[in-house]
Parts: sequence; structure tokens; C-alpha cells
Amino acid sequence: MEFRDKVLGKKVVRLIHSLMPDRAVRIIHVCGTHEQTITKYGLRTLLPKNLELLSGPGCPVCVTPAKDIDEAIFLAKNCATLVTYGDMMRVPGSDMSLDEARSDGADVKVAYSVNDAVRMASNTKKDVVFFGIGFETTAPSNAAVLCNRPPDNFSILLSHKLVPPAMEALVGDGDVSFDGVIAPGHVSTIIGTVPYESFAERGIPVIVTGFEPLDVLFAVLMILKQMKEGQSRVENEYSRVVFANGNIKAQTLMIEAFDVADAYWRGIGEVANSGLAIKPMFSQFDAREKYDIAIGEVQDLHPGCSCGLVLTAKATPEDCKLFGKVCTPEKPYGPCMVSKEGTCHNWWKYGRYGLE
Ligand code: SF4
Repeated sequence: MEFRDKVLGKKVVRLIHSLMPDRAVRIIHVCGTHEQTITKYGLRTLLPKNLELLSGPGCPVCVTPAKDIDEAIFLAKNCATLVTYGDMMRVPGSDMSLDEARSDGADVKVAYSVNDAVRMASNTKKDVVFFGIGFETTAPSNAAVLCNRPPDNFSILLSHKLVPPAMEALVGDGDVSFDGVIAPGHVSTIIGTVPYESFAERGIPVIVTGFEPLDVLFAVLMILKQMKEGQSRVENEYSRVVFANGNIKAQTLMIEAFDVADAYWRGIGEVANSGLAIKPMFSQFDAREKYDIAIGEVQDLHPGCSCGLVLTAKATPEDCKLFGKVCTPEKPYGPCMVSKEGTCHNWWKYGRYGLE
């Protein structure tokens, strides 16, 4: 951290302590990269003891259902070259991960983007399926490919999730309550700040923020300031990147290619209107329409894995009996331990109180 940031950070931390009410405060974020910043820089150690900074379902590979991974493995074993992001490779499906399926002979390749998969399809006669996972951040590039007519041997196994409906489900869950929400910076570059207004109208301050330690500290400070003033607004700390209406071009592409649909979040369950489905006019590029996918019984989480509780801020990774024993980044047993955006992964890598 730069000297100037350290000085400013100290000031912000002092202000946070000075604004802290005489009661417990619970602030939740829904972004794996925010959790990485918080754990890596030990931000929880700087905050008042009665302020909890909680982690929600912000890791896209963690919430990708085991059923969709099983479908991807079926396709790679029986129908096509399955192309996916590196982060997905070791996420456990019901019986195995894509990595294990590849060792077993399945045709799985890693790519950085959907465009790599389109290029692969252009250079082969074999069918190519891209495993399209992620939030509003990655969905527009998949939509753009569909709208620009990819090769006939290309299709997408779609597994996109939408963040605001998941936030809605969290806030509406009677088992947990929050004083404020830190909204995800990357997702907000696409959707803007307007979709969070409904939370503010119900008395929950929402701050869109970036990924530097100072960004996260400012977000906490801004929530406490609103609480002190008895207000709840959507504020944009990340105005260097995020605009109120988001990226209209990306939103238009998504509307052209996808319908909003109910979606299953791993460990959490079905959330209304929280996913995307490929529009019927693009059905020839929809892997679920193109192939007869047959999978066995789905095991969402393996016995003992508490990812469902971790993803809904009802438990910390350390509450899981398998954390660091049966389940480590080298040998992940549950989905939250695989990716650098996973809460369990970050708590194992940096410790509860961070490295720096
Ligand atoms: S430590 Fe592993 S098994 Fe436990 S909740 Fe996290 S990912 Fe699941």
C-alpha cells in the first residue's frame, strides 16, 4: 500500500470507529473480489469489534450448480469439446470435477474468454460447447457472440446468475439481517446503481465500491455515516468506473440474447428471476436444446460441506469442520474452496485476519 493510502486509511479507520453506534452492526458484501481484498489486507482487524463484515454469494464458480457441472461433463464425454474458464476445472460436480473428467478421457479445454471458444469452433469440425458461467459481468460477452452468429458447431451451456435477485433473497431471509450492503463493483459496471434503489427504499444503505482496501473502508464508513444520519441511500464510491445507468450497450446485448429465468444457486436453492436462459431464436446455439443431456442423481454439496451457510453469511469457513482438514485449496472438497473468489479459499490462504 502506498504511504499516502496508509495515512488516508488510518484516517478512515479512525472515522469508522468514531461513527460506530453502541450496538452490533452487520454489513454484507456480495463479491468474491471484495472478500479477497478484505482477507488479504486484514481489513476485519481494523474495524470495531462489534462490526461484522460478512460475505455473501459473490463467487460465480461457487454458486454454479453441481447439476450444470454434471451436464458439462456429460457433454465433454459424449458430444463435444467442452471449453471453460480455468477456475471451473476443479469445482466438484456430483461425482467428479471437470479436471477429473479430463483425466478420465473427457474432452475439456480451458479458455480465457468465450471468443477463444468461438475461435476453436472455427478451426475444427468437432462440436464445441462453451460453459457460460458467471454474473452480469460475463453474460454480455456471451450475448454478443450469440447476436453475431457463431459457427454452426458452436453452442453455449448457459449458467449465468443475476446478483440483485440474490441480494433480494438474502435481505428477505428472516434468519439474517443486515445494516448495510456493499454492492459489487464489477457487476455494477454493467447494471449501474439504479437496481439497488429498492434496497435503500426499504431502509438499507447500499454502497457500490471498488477493490482497493481504501475503497472497502470508505464503503464501510459511508454506510455508518448514513446510519448516523438515519438515512438509507445508494451511493457510488466507485464512480471512476461505475455509472448510474451502467453499460447500456452490454445491457441491450443481454436483452437481445437472453430471457430472465428462475435459477438454482448451489448451496442456496432456487431464486426467482435470478438467472438467464438463451432466447428461443438462438436455440441452435443452446447446448441444452442441441443435445440430449442425460445425467444421474445430482449431489448439490458433498456431506459435511457448509458452503450453503457460508454463501448466505450464516456461517464462516472456520465453522465448517472440514475447513483446512479435509478441504484445502490443493484438494477442495466443496466449491467455496476452489476459486480465489471463494470465501473458504481466501480464509485458508490469508487467514481470518489477513497477511498485511
Ligand atoms: S471448508 Fe470446504 S467443505 Fe467446508 S464449507 Fe468451505 S468449501 Fe465447503
